[in-house]
Amino acid sequence: MKFPPGLPIGESWVDAPSTAPVLFPYDGSTVAEAPVGDVGLARQALDHAVAVRETVGRLPSHVRRNVLQSVHSAVKAERDAFVDLLILETGKPLVDCRVEIDRTLLTLETAAEEVARLHGETVPLDLLPSGEGLLGFWVRRPIGVVVGITGFNYPLLLAAHKIAPAFAAGCPTVIKPAPQTPLATLWLVHLMRSALAEAGAPESALQLITGGPDVGATLTTDPRIGAVSFTGSAAVGHQIARDAAPTKVLLELGSNSALVVAEDADLDAAADAIIRGGYYASGQACISVQRVLAVAPIHQPLLDKLLSRLPTIPVGDPRDPTTRVSALINPHSTTRVRTWIHNALQSGATLTYPEATPAPAGSSGAAGGGAGGLGEVGVDLLGPTVLTEVPSGEAVWDEEVFGPVIAVRSVPDLESAFAAVNDSRYGLHASVFTSSLDTAFTAIDRLDVGGVVINEVPGFRSDVMPYGGVKDSGIGREGPRFAIEELTTTRMAIIRPR
Ligand code: NAD
Repeated sequence: MKFPPGLPIGESWVDAPSTAPVLFPYDGSTVAEAPVGDVGLARQALDHAVAVRETVGRLPSHVRRNVLQSVHSAVKAERDAFVDLLILETGKPLVDCRVEIDRTLLTLETAAEEVARLHGETVPLDLLPSGEGLLGFWVRRPIGVVVGITGFNYPLLLAAHKIAPAFAAGCPTVIKPAPQTPLATLWLVHLMRSALAEAGAPESALQLITGGPDVGATLTTDPRIGAVSFTGSAAVGHQIARDAAPTKVLLELGSNSALVVAEDADLDAAADAIIRGGYYASGQACISVQRVLAVAPIHQPLLDKLLSRLPTIPVGDPRDPTTRVSALINPHSTTRVRTWIHNALQSGATLTYPEATPAPAGSSGAAGGGAGGLGEVGVDLLGPTVLTEVPSGEAVWDEEVFGPVIAVRSVPDLESAFAAVNDSRYGLHASVFTSSLDTAFTAIDRLDVGGVVINEVPGFRSDVMPYGGVKDSGIGREGPRFAIEELTTTRMAIIRPR
């Protein structure tokens, strides 16, 4: 972690009005004191972004591509240090932080490549008699200042999803990371501003401000901005959409992703995927498996396979390369998830794994879910949990859990499974395990989600594909190519040659 003190606002790093500790979720120790901005600094950042909007919009393609390539090289050179920092500020297991850095690199690389593909096309205007003799073509123009706001769970990658396509498109960006996890983003911004300076471009093309909802709302409601690109919860995303109108808003929100297991599925592959897809990042991923719909004949055999695998999932210190589940971002989140489990059990759900355990000492007292038994550091660690017979209406089924909890339901047939997938206010990704091509195509046709995944986890995501949700899971698509489309407008040229 090597970046200057303060906040990168304008052409330099300025003193922050206050600081706040960033805590290691696994043991509550302080990782660093982070600068915290305020509303006044947020306005200053916007002033600077507006001042360089034209300059950034007119930076030649070779400069924009080279800057992104330089950032890619700089991040790659610090790969291991970034992984260490991500573990400390997020508490995510090392394996997941390695995935995060690799996807960050792919995002930077792909955005650099997309600069070469940012072009318009000619249009046959003479399809109308009145258009005879006209020359028509369109070009893409940057949308203007982009405000990027990100959640805590993949701080570096989510920031890269905002910063890289916006710069490729020629837009200055003001980024606001989540208050719990600002450090990796500060470092990324420092590396990119160094690359900008080296290229002779204004550093104000990328600024960062930290803070909470007041700082975020100051950025998103400013009429001078061209777009808000937000990744976070549905509640906050919808608030932003209301507050920012009529500014363009792109929303990458949460989900309660479903995985369907058909009778003809490879049950071992399905069980492996449920474990892998349900518990990575300790369940704190927008497309982690939350709801499993198993057709009746294979419901019990699938549960048996899950139950044989669950005790082998290593739970503990996120720095240990074997760990798969660790502490959630903060004790408040753990208490919330335990309360949701408790409420489901009260409503008739069954705690299938682990066998009912009392809430650990020091927790809120809300029982439910597995305790990882972290006596040595005293953090309430929620282990992998499986619920069955969860009634609809319970938060662990209807809402986004964002913890290591999976609910498995038996359904009479695939029709009912697909109906249950769609019976959700969310729609990000859904998976179907089947060996039938017909079932796969039916799922792709019928499931009301942003991505249908066959025989893989719903959490599969690569940054070369369009990614985003429907319904309360969001508006717009990410992946550099698609984000660039969102962050540019077409300008049509119609010429009657003389
Ligand atoms: P959150 O919604 O609590 O906060 C996200 C960001 O919004 C933070 O930076 C926060 O400070 C800011 N914010 C809060 N109130 C604001 C306001 N009124 N105006 C402007 N900004 C405001 O989300 P979180 O808990 O940090 O992250 C977890 C959520 O993110 C989950 O719901 C998860 O599914 C979602 N997520 C989605 C994707 C995706 O690509 N779809 C990826 C990762 C995470």
